[in-house]
Amino acid sequence: MIRLEGVRFRFEDLEMRFDIDVPAGSFTAIIGPSGGGKSTLLSLIAGFEIPLSGHVTIADRDMAGLSPDQRPVSMIFQDNNVFAHLDLWQNVAIGISPGLRLSSGQQAMADEALRQVGLMALRHRKPGEVSGGERQRVAIARALVREKPILLLDEPFAALGPALRREMLDLVGNFRREKQLTVLMVTHQPEDARYAADYTAFLEGGRIVALRPTPELFGARDLPALAAYLGDWRN
Ligand code: ADP
Ligand code: MG
Repeated sequence: MIRLEGVRFRFEDLEMRFDIDVPAGSFTAIIGPSGGGKSTLLSLIAGFEIPLSGHVTIADRDMAGLSPDQRPVSMIFQDNNVFAHLDLWQNVAIGISPGLRLSSGQQAMADEALRQVGLMALRHRKPGEVSGGERQRVAIARALVREKPILLLDEPFAALGPALRREMLDLVGNFRREKQLTVLMVTHQPEDARYAADYTAFLEGGRIVALRPTPELFGARDLPALAAYLGDWRN
């Protein structure tokens, strides 16, 4: 459903070339060393960066020339997903209407998304008055109201502790099933990939080294670069 064919990109000394097929409806994790191009890969899919050559195709549609807004994609970052001067409800509603002019049906949609992420009681608070985990819930709720079939997550829960991360992964996993989303998540936590992802890709030096069902990837004996990255985490 997400296909990159010969997608080339360059940042200074790093030449990237991505060829990848992400199955529709899957939850795919991307792991690999810092500076390897994981965030750039997501940006190329979302349309924040434009390939030097090659094709990004989503549901058989070539994304060339489409702005991030025109693509069937929502993206959540590690932080800075919320507007500090808007309250939590407005931060969700802005995903429906950038000018915050919502019909009553749309207002009900924002309410429902906040309820689903458990933030209805805090809806009048500003982002500075809630926890980091709650701010990421707001970002998830906004992604939900945008109703885009693809959700890209760039180390979204890196600042949260293990228990809270699992809770957030469960939340994303439930929405994926409910809304049949395709989820692509960059993570530095191998255990998060093992917990939540059907497939895991290992990315290093601007290349996808392997994309396999998660248990297979972590059990692989033919990927020395992956073994070096994981260290003795598997033992
Ligand atoms: P990762 O997310 O795997 O850590 P990135 O995709 O952020 O890797 O970065 C890949 C490479 O591109 C790194 O060497 C990084 O320094 C470089 N890079 C990332 N963003 C920019 C940018 N906006 N301008 C110049 N170089 C960048
Ligand atoms: Mg990154």
